[in-house]
Amino acid sequence: MCVMSLEDFKTDNHHSDKIYGEHEFNEKLEQMVEDNKSKFPIDLDIAFIEVSTRMTKHRAKAYKREGGTYYIRVSEEFVQRESLYIIELTVVHEMVHIYFYQMGYPNHGHDKYFRWVVGQVQASMTRTSTFEQKWRDCIEPFMEDN
Ligand SMILES: [Zn+2]
Repeated sequence: MCVMSLEDFKTDNHHSDKIYGEHEFNEKLEQMVEDNKSKFPIDLDIAFIEVSTRMTKHRAKAYKREGGTYYIRVSEEFVQRESLYIIELTVVHEMVHIYFYQMGYPNHGHDKYFRWVVGQVQASMTRTSTFEQKWRDCIEPFMEDN
């Protein structure tokens, strides 16, 4: 009985900062984060990832919370429109932002270091780049090996 209560508490705590409630796509996003964590040399403190029904200007965004953990929101419109493959590349891009935050560089932008790590973990850089024929021809073949 004690174990049950502990589990309940953990579950509630895990979702406490989500403001958009449950979304059928959240589980897939969580899986994408789990699948890509091992590409990074440190443990990324990602408390949760969720679909945002209100995000329109960005495809996704990484945020810092009090206490030094992070979370990611992904636009609902984006997840409805794109393939799982493109969504995952975007999730990994946001994970790269969190990596730089955790390494002590909150104002990194998309500088040359950021772009190097993006290449290293096989994230996407911009929406356009993943659709360009040159990107498909020259970069995608690297990703299929993994
Ligand atoms: Zn970015």
